[in-house]
Amino acid sequence: MKNQSSRRRFLKLTVGGIVGLTVGNKLLVKPAQAADLPHLSVDDAQAKALKYVNESSFSDKNCNNCMLIEGDASAEWRPCKIFPGKLVNGKGWCSAYAPKPA
Ligand code: SF4
Repeated sequence: MKNQSSRRRFLKLTVGGIVGLTVGNKLLVKPAQAADLPHLSVDDAQAKALKYVNESSFSDKNCNNCMLIEGDASAEWRPCKIFPGKLVNGKGWCSAYAPKPA
């Protein structure tokens, strides 16, 4: 009898916990907004490895026309798939540059 009571209590707590986490997650965790992300520094180790610069020296190749850039096209700084959690300058460039398909 005591085992059934313990099992019931365990199930109630587990289900309650899962529901609480799910609902709590929706209510309490605000998704990061792109504007809140830090700008990628040219001194960042990954940026250096990919030769990232804030201003491209190519006239026709920059982050704004790279297929790996994301976010609002009108923003000066935007997320990039290569540098998660950071924003790259739309005028920038790195060696992972891949032109957007025409
Ligand atoms: S991959 Fe490089 S060139 Fe392309 S958007 Fe990201 S930083 Fe810019």
